[in-house]
Amino acid sequence: MSFSKLGLCEPILKAIKETGYTTPTPIQKKAIPLILKGDDVLAGAQTGTGKTAGFTLPLLENLHKHQKQTGHRGQPKRHIRALILTPTRELAAQVGENVQTYSKYLPYKSTIIFGGVNINRQINTIKQGIDILIATPGRLLDLVSQKVVDLSKVEILVLDEADRMLDMGFIHDIKKVVKIVPKSRQTLLFSATFSKEIKALASGFQTNPILVEVSVQNTTSERVEQVVHPVDKSRKRELLYKLINDGQWQQVLVFTRTKHGANKLCEYLQKQNIPSSAIHGNKSQGARTKALANFKEKKIRVLVATDIAARGIDIDMLPHVVNFELPNVPEDYVHRIGRTGRAGRAGEAVSLVCVDENDFLRGIERLTSQKIKKVVIKGYEVDPTIQAEPVNLGRGNRGGGQKRNSTPKKKKSSDNDWNEEKKKPNSRNRSRNRNRNRNKSKALD
Ligand code: AMP
Repeated sequence: MSFSKLGLCEPILKAIKETGYTTPTPIQKKAIPLILKGDDVLAGAQTGTGKTAGFTLPLLENLHKHQKQTGHRGQPKRHIRALILTPTRELAAQVGENVQTYSKYLPYKSTIIFGGVNINRQINTIKQGIDILIATPGRLLDLVSQKVVDLSKVEILVLDEADRMLDMGFIHDIKKVVKIVPKSRQTLLFSATFSKEIKALASGFQTNPILVEVSVQNTTSERVEQVVHPVDKSRKRELLYKLINDGQWQQVLVFTRTKHGANKLCEYLQKQNIPSSAIHGNKSQGARTKALANFKEKKIRVLVATDIAARGIDIDMLPHVVNFELPNVPEDYVHRIGRTGRAGRAGEAVSLVCVDENDFLRGIERLTSQKIKKVVIKGYEVDPTIQAEPVNLGRGNRGGGQKRNSTPKKKKSSDNDWNEEKKKPNSRNRSRNRNRNRNKSKALD
């Protein structure tokens, strides 16, 4: 099937052609016709499946089809007609780029707004008139309360990576936004995983949503080769260096659980002459954007990231993802390794697992219904005398790991990685055990 069969207009087809895509991905094949019909869609698609184009292309087509008013010189009269909410700045930027690419030959203006950067420039851009707004919830509501953003004419609302928005405690902000936008609208909800909360969100905000899923829930892409290297915690850095060096890996995304861990690992790799940068919630937006650009352009070989900061990272042909530490929330594993093997390309996801993390590994294997291949690297065999110790997930404590008799140190609250939007999700989502667990983990540093 080609894109032209989907019923998209010529300007959109021309923009798609320039990107080099020839056939729609499975999620695009399923979602685009429904969205074009005007249905509310609840889509289960993880990042890397082409989901962004899956909602952006029909969104543009629908705006084009339903264009009512024209203003100066036949240009559309601008007001915000489509609103795309994303959990993080990185994802907002990524979606924004997609919208720009696909709307290149349409007369629409789009912009992105998110926290952590100067608000005045965003205000000026919006005042000039915008058709499509891509936003993180916090900054959006800020601008709504300042009466800069008017959402009263929104026709299409998209919640992208809705599961992550809930995990980050944005439920109340989302509810506020939904109250402001018109009742009669099209609502599209995209989520990598389907929890009860997501289904509840969908039934509350959508009208007779049609469910589309491209692969079984919580599966990992078959194109990603996954492997676990059992190793002692104290030797992980060394092993990572060996893998990068021996394998001549040129572009590696490495995940750590904490910001502090990301910084330390980055410093270590730099000392080994491996050009590396770290991105996490404590870095300024400028530093994050620069690190990401350097990584994409292969000016650095390793990008060390925390889960939140890595959301929305989309790099063509990213060949290697390393879990330096396993996430304690199994869904995060699916998200992390979705950074490689994107859009049908092959990729490799390597996890360095110490004895403390065996429970996390079991949780991941249960969620993804698979056993991950274990390969012991010669010279890095685990020391069988080291006993597993619980990874301490309590706020303010360091992970106990294999260090014994270490007094947990108090951490500053700014050490957690939840300040993407200066939110404190713990205060809002206490009722949800899963989130509590996740938030505690993020507080570790
Ligand atoms: P996403 O899941 O939206 O993050 O997209 C993952 C990657 O797939 C991005 O690099 C897109 O540019 C790419 N992509 C999207 N649609 C297609 C397509 N139909 N054919 C090939 N690549 C695509």
